[in-house]
Amino acid sequence: MLFRYLFSTPYITKTCTLNKLNRTLSTLPQLSSEKYGVKRKEFGVLKNDDVKFFQSLISKERVLTDESELLPYNIDWIKNCRGQSKVVLKPKTTEEVSQILKYCNERRLAVCPQGGNTGLVGGSVPVFDEVIINFMLMNKIISVDELSGALVCEAGCILENLDNYARERNLIMPLDLGAKGSCQIGGNISTNAGGIRLLRYGNLQGTVLGVEAVKADGSIIDCLRTLKKDNTGYHLKHLFIGSEGTLGVVTKVAIQCPSLPKSVNLGFFGVESFDSVLQLYKSAKSSLGEILSAFEMADSLSIGTTVKNLKLTNPIGEYPFYVLIETHGSDEEHDSDKLSRFLSREMDSGLIVDGTVTAEETKMKSIWNIRESIAGAALHGGYMFKYDVSVPLRSYYELVHVLRRRLRAVDCKVYGYGHVGDGNIHINVVVPEYSKEVYGLLEPFIFEEVSKHKGSISAEHGVGFRKPQYIHYSKDQTSLQLMRDMKRVMDPNGILNPYKVLPDPS
Ligand SMILES: Cc1cc2nc3c(=O)[nH]c(=O)nc-3n(C[C@H](O)[C@H](O)[C@H](O)COP(=O)(O)OP(=O)(O)OC[C@H]3O[C@@H](n4cnc5c(N)ncnc54)[C@H](O)[C@@H]3O)c2cc1C
Repeated sequence: MLFRYLFSTPYITKTCTLNKLNRTLSTLPQLSSEKYGVKRKEFGVLKNDDVKFFQSLISKERVLTDESELLPYNIDWIKNCRGQSKVVLKPKTTEEVSQILKYCNERRLAVCPQGGNTGLVGGSVPVFDEVIINFMLMNKIISVDELSGALVCEAGCILENLDNYARERNLIMPLDLGAKGSCQIGGNISTNAGGIRLLRYGNLQGTVLGVEAVKADGSIIDCLRTLKKDNTGYHLKHLFIGSEGTLGVVTKVAIQCPSLPKSVNLGFFGVESFDSVLQLYKSAKSSLGEILSAFEMADSLSIGTTVKNLKLTNPIGEYPFYVLIETHGSDEEHDSDKLSRFLSREMDSGLIVDGTVTAEETKMKSIWNIRESIAGAALHGGYMFKYDVSVPLRSYYELVHVLRRRLRAVDCKVYGYGHVGDGNIHINVVVPEYSKEVYGLLEPFIFEEVSKHKGSISAEHGVGFRKPQYIHYSKDQTSLQLMRDMKRVMDPNGILNPYKVLPDPS
């Protein structure tokens, strides 16, 4: 067995990789309304006077109407959806957001809130001519309490910038994901983003301390507290965590930042079977305990395609499955001691066949870059049907086998990888170009399979535009009705992100 503690791989930044991928996909996606046969609802139609009003409210420079300028705001990251918005607004303050929504509500103009536009379910782009409210200019960090770890900022702050800011103060952001160089904290909250360290730091429903949001009618809800405990009535902030811009627009956020770990290790291991992945996870939980911060897996196709398409280096050989194990702790000696004992036991047991472990930052970044580039690298192959489901761990990888069997006769690749610690697998089916036949083979089949395992059809990406018609596989009718009732109370005219999350009652 060859076991390396050091290796050299060129470090490629995430931003650089994302940009490169976006450039390679130059053809325009079909309009979402045509592709998915959606009918426009009876909203107002944008007029010159509306544009003039917006220009007088927030200035001409922050109102985009030029068709070519609008294009990137109308297309989602994965190039599955394309909207037809005629205007993008870039407010700088909560007050401006409030005035915009008040006006849109009175005029019945539909609105699509947009953060970094890295969402993977078509929620961040309009379907028809919704007014896009983009938060990129609401990017101020308001305060950080180094004692409690509470950070308060505007919704348009980019996650990576917040993390860098927190690190300078011996704190970190409690969430981390492959899109961190572009996604915004307001988008993260609106999607209830998970990411690679949910296993350790929990989900946003736990770490978000407070939210300031604007309702559809323009009224501002101030729940921007920095308290860990506050049981004064209903927990209103939770209405905005994961509601994908359909109940209100998030303008400010207070979030609990954990301490910067003093000792970080990352291992990348080759494993022979998925059963070994599961056994390794069980062992890592009990052996590494409180220092385990991430446990990720990817199959050989995912890693092989990523290193090939992006010209990266796989630091170990080729294996059926790969596992990334990360530790965050406060005592280097204690952590490496624990890790060494775990590794030598699992190398002896044969669960780990090969691997590399590093505590060097650039090397850790190189390993994470391979894992986090899987989705982008697979896009080189053509069109991607992307699924993000959670199922009981025993059935975690089964769906990949089922889909490969079902799509035997189709020219496609089925990739499986994800956050094992959260029971969340990402399945990407890549075909040379969009095909209605493949779409028909995949949906609703995949959601029926997930439902058989009592899983969730969306573990962390949300429902967005792509999945409302399948939400009943994860939510019963009574729950759906309650969601509809809440929508009616919060947004009686239905202007906030229409065609998303809630299925059409008909
Ligand atoms: C390479 C890559 C890796 C990813 N990895 C992960 C991962 O590990 N875990 C994960 O959970 N997701 C992941 N994602 C998906 C995506 O990054 C997350 O969903 C992220 O939280 C979206 O943030 P955003 O700012 O880009 O929001 P957008 O994509 O702009 O919007 C997402 C949704 O939130 C709404 N929204 C945005 N801002 C606001 C606001 N201020 N107020 C109200 N509604 C708003 C939009 O209307 C839309 O419905 C990944 C995406 C990519 C491209």
